[in-house]
Amino acid sequence: MEDTIAAISTALGVGAISIIRVSGKDSIEIVNSLTKSKKLVEKASHTINYDYIMDGDKEVDEVLISVMKAPRTFTCENIVEINAHGGITTTNYILKLLLNNGCRLAEPGEFTKRAFLNGRIDLTQAEGIMNLIESQTEKSRNLAIKQLDGKVSNMISDLREDIIKVEANIDVNIDFPEYDDIEVLTNEKILPSLKDIREKMHKILENSRDGLLVKDGIKTSIIGKPNVGKSSLLNRLLHENKAIVTDIEGTTRDIVEGKISIEGILLNIIDTAGIRDTEDIVESIGVKKSLELINESDLILFVLNNNEELTSKEKEILDLLKKKNYIIVINKCDLEDKLVINDDNIVRISALEDEGIDKLKDKIKEMFNLEKIETEDFSYLTNARSISLLEKAEKDLNNIINNIDNNLPIDMIELDLRNVWNTLGEIIGESYDEELLDQLFSRFCLGK
Ligand code: GDP
Repeated sequence: MEDTIAAISTALGVGAISIIRVSGKDSIEIVNSLTKSKKLVEKASHTINYDYIMDGDKEVDEVLISVMKAPRTFTCENIVEINAHGGITTTNYILKLLLNNGCRLAEPGEFTKRAFLNGRIDLTQAEGIMNLIESQTEKSRNLAIKQLDGKVSNMISDLREDIIKVEANIDVNIDFPEYDDIEVLTNEKILPSLKDIREKMHKILENSRDGLLVKDGIKTSIIGKPNVGKSSLLNRLLHENKAIVTDIEGTTRDIVEGKISIEGILLNIIDTAGIRDTEDIVESIGVKKSLELINESDLILFVLNNNEELTSKEKEILDLLKKKNYIIVINKCDLEDKLVINDDNIVRISALEDEGIDKLKDKIKEMFNLEKIETEDFSYLTNARSISLLEKAEKDLNNIINNIDNNLPIDMIELDLRNVWNTLGEIIGESYDEELLDQLFSRFCLGK
């Protein structure tokens, strides 16, 4: 990390201002050499300074330059940020000057990676930064902010501390065998503590699933045979004419996607080709895909026509759905009732007359407990990496508890307990491998 890195931190394109960020021990000297005043090196830390960026004698741009000296900066290194006039040419020109004068182009996420490596933030906070950038709803933004301020990290650190306490109890027993009433120690101290830790882990995991809903939304598929009104329903939900509505059966060949927000939770909706036996190749690809989607979806809206009897194919699909989160949407309720069906999860609508769409939204809210999520104070894990590590820790801890129940000597479990502690450490990045870091930070945008 000896070299000084530079990158454009704002989105490339036409805008009022662009920011070029420089970090590393030589950043102030390098930028200073490009200024008209050549006085940047004399400026106090955390100041904004008016100047010109020069290419030899030529004025490149009139700029404001922020100087932030190590260690009280994002990367814990000297950081200089050049606020230039927006636009691609000026911004690139300044970046090129920096690269020709001793800076290296930063890799995506490298500023954040340095913040992590220099101990400024831990891994869950780094992931929080990425979630914040990617958040699409106010709620997912809130969640990311919590991750950023270290609440999630504290929760994991607390679990690790609890484990250390249990280890200390075991050590006392090993080091001072006069206390060796092992039965009492195990039953009165160690086992309850371990069960308590397991309980806490379980609670975090349970809530993390809600957290994922907030972050990624609910993957929703609209399925049903051709012409029941899937596209019309999608249009009603999206309030726009994105899907093509036609009278000809099987015309929704492509999968059409859209997003709506219910109580701040994103519903990622996919409208698929109708499910039916068909010779048409293009159509059948869509049909196969529909069946795949049933398996991948968090929620299935199965659309039926109120004006027709249930087909055998539809009955088959109903059976497939039983294991999933589904809502049967009976459409065309403005027409004569011919459909007979009994189920707890039915909502009756008319996409044509815009009837019942609110009832459908209410049903979704109820199903995913969105109102609870609305009021909940979130500080949970929100990415697959941390969740799978916590799941592993919970499973390992469970094994330990079972082993104790099976009278395995208490000192034998110490190593296993240490492994749980290490796994929790991986969540916050106390231990990590380079590959994981590269993979994680490469997902960031340039200049972050
Ligand atoms: P899809 O093939 O399932 O996507 O069905 P579409 O949304 O393309 O609709 C097929 C036909 O049914 C179109 O002519 C729609 O106008 C009509 N339709 C859709 N919803 C309703 C409804 O609630 N009532 C009535 N009467 N017709 C509808």
